[in-house]
Amino acid sequence: MIGSFLNVCIYRLPREESVVTPGSHCPECQRPIRFYDNIPLASYLILRGKCRYCHASISLQYPLVEGITALSSLCLYIKFGLSWSYLFYFAFISALIAITIIDLYHQIIPDVISLPGIGVGLVASFFLPRITFLNSLIGFLLGGGTLFLVATGYHWLFKREGMGGGDVKLLAMIGAFLGWKAVILTILSSSLIGSVSGILLMLMKGKDFKYAIPFGPFLALGAVFSLFYGEEMIQWYLDLYHY
Ligand SMILES: [Zn+2]
Repeated sequence: MIGSFLNVCIYRLPREESVVTPGSHCPECQRPIRFYDNIPLASYLILRGKCRYCHASISLQYPLVEGITALSSLCLYIKFGLSWSYLFYFAFISALIAITIIDLYHQIIPDVISLPGIGVGLVASFFLPRITFLNSLIGFLLGGGTLFLVATGYHWLFKREGMGGGDVKLLAMIGAFLGWKAVILTILSSSLIGSVSGILLMLMKGKDFKYAIPFGPFLALGAVFSLFYGEEMIQWYLDLYHY
């Protein structure tokens, strides 16, 4: 159900529409979707991916987002049980899922997700056993600060925008939720995955180095990796120096 709501946010937030009213309707024929046609995952299968009335195709994005959200919830439950950690990290991952899809479609990261996300992340540190408020605050400053410097430096060197302000606020949010160590891990892992994907894309599509790809999805992926495996990764790295 949260995944289904995320789909609504993904469609409406970049269009600056309300996520509450009007109720769900087919974007093609505008007819309202009945509650029995609005069951996450199941309805897509029953309707075989088509609107009941006009038979327009329903984007694969809908069941994909619903499935990924459900899977995230399950993984968090296995790792944290029913706890504050589960609740806050589920809110965090849900925000990352919405941001990823919106960034892929529109090359923007809406402030209405990332800015409140920073606030929630700072408050969450009082409830999360993994992180102190100070760590969350340093994570927020380091995350926002690092990318702000990268964005400003790139603009100064090349006289055009290389990294959007949305990425700056996104990494600030990730830092607020996960702390400063995870910010470093997120920058490293997302840069690595981003560079490899960027180079592959350039080779396949014959684009030059000015070809823009959204960085938000890679930051989100790096953050999820840090959330689940960050402590093990950092411990493994530190252990390398013991031998
Ligand atoms: Zn329709």
